[in-house]
Amino acid sequence: MGKVKSFTAKLAHETSNEGKIICPVCNTEIKRVKLITNKKKTGGWSPLNEYAKICKCNEAEILAGKNL
Ligand SMILES: [Zn+2]
Repeated sequence: MGKVKSFTAKLAHETSNEGKIICPVCNTEIKRVKLITNKKKTGGWSPLNEYAKICKCNEAEILAGKNL
C-alpha cells in the first residue's frame, strides 16, 4: 500500500503545480486576485468583478490601487 500512497501523493503534487502560473519575467507565481471595482460606463455605473494577475512585476502597482 505504501507504493500506492506515494503515487497518489506525487500525482496530487503535480496536479497542484499545474494550476500555478509562473511569471517568466520575475520567476514568481502569478496569483489571481479578485478585484471588485466600480467603473463608469455609458449608461451608468456597473459593478465589475475583475481578476487581476499579480506577480512581483506589478504587485506594488496593484496593491497601491493604480490599476483599479
Ligand atoms: Zn512578473
